[in-house]
Amino acid sequence: MSSSGLVLIFNAGSSSLKFSVIDPDSGRESLDGIGDALGSEQPVLKWQYDGHKHARKLDAGAGHGEVIDFLVGDLLGELPALKKRLIAIGHRIVHGGEHFSRSVLIDRKVIEAIGECASLAPLHNPPGLLGIRAALEAFPQLPQAAVFDTAFHQTLPEHAYLYALPYSLYREHRLRRYGMHGSSHRFVSERAADLLQKPLRETNIISAHLGNGASVAAIKGGTSVDTSMGLTPLEGLVMGTRCGDVDAGLLMHLQESLGYSPERLNQLLNRESGLLGISGLSNDCRELEQAAAEGHRGARLALEIFCYRLAKYIAAYTVPLRRVNAVIFTGGIGENSSWVRERVLHWLAALDYRLDTEMNERMRFGAEGAITPAGSPTAMVIPTNEEWVIARDAAGLVDGENG
Ligand code: AMP
Repeated sequence: MSSSGLVLIFNAGSSSLKFSVIDPDSGRESLDGIGDALGSEQPVLKWQYDGHKHARKLDAGAGHGEVIDFLVGDLLGELPALKKRLIAIGHRIVHGGEHFSRSVLIDRKVIEAIGECASLAPLHNPPGLLGIRAALEAFPQLPQAAVFDTAFHQTLPEHAYLYALPYSLYREHRLRRYGMHGSSHRFVSERAADLLQKPLRETNIISAHLGNGASVAAIKGGTSVDTSMGLTPLEGLVMGTRCGDVDAGLLMHLQESLGYSPERLNQLLNRESGLLGISGLSNDCRELEQAAAEGHRGARLALEIFCYRLAKYIAAYTVPLRRVNAVIFTGGIGENSSWVRERVLHWLAALDYRLDTEMNERMRFGAEGAITPAGSPTAMVIPTNEEWVIARDAAGLVDGENG
């Protein structure tokens, strides 16, 4: 594909900018780092190269542009061989609305369209654009690609993406379900086809991406037919600090009877709920498992609600798929938490899932494989690699452009 070229990946959050350099053929990462606490009094930059970790403070108030300046000037300046091999830049962009059903090379029109989608993802798209603008300035000679979290789910049928609201809200304002984590769901469903030794178009996969944010997708023949996140990343599963599905009437009650402002509601639902809100302890699955094992009631309850809600979604997605070849666990929790996987399969006993306890315990820290015994429907752990998807897409677009 890319004949030893490398892709520089940017993943911009509101106060952070992650970067990495990836070989699109092998997925091998040669450099990765993060500018964190950007815009604050004490921004920091941390990076790893060749197994060595480094960190340095940035000037107070430094933002995305300063991180890219440091990367281009200082860091890549000292690694000229690496810099020379860069063939493209890939940007992770959360929301592509209905504009983008695949990754694209960035031009003025693409930048405008990403800006138009910002109202649908006000926390995510503006920093993505900051990253693009800074990278265009720093690397004017390199082609740049945008890879959207929503693009993979643009294949959802109308009956899956529409809310039961007046249709005019969709027609006039494009208010509908979009779904996120597309690169991850795509990566693990393709990998699952390899492991199942089946052509992708013949597979029916349910993929559960369980990290601090979490979503589940029903993937038929390699295309997404339903997913749990909606207009925003708030809908669906219980997450680290997000509530997932709640009764919309609850929101009116909080506003009208308890005096919650829109800002306070946003904070409550996005930052104070989920595993953190229920447990009153932490949004971190590892900490909750430890506390639950020591008898902490809130931690145990939070994990149980997380697993029960997920199992219900998985069971529901047998509706569009009918026959399911595999349920995939991925993301920090899916790849590492034997506790969560055990409880989810416990609830899925209704669909005849059984657990191979020994395999389940073995699946962590990057291990890959089935956690169900012969005779049970299949559930697997597959480590995700969203950066690799971005690198492959960017390199593929450059190859296409060149010939
Ligand atoms: P991510 O957003 O994909 O990085 O995932 C973060 C989540 O994965 C956090 O809730 C972590 O506690 C969880 N996690 C990471 N490692 C483990 C582990 N060994 N056991 C349980 N949960 C883990």
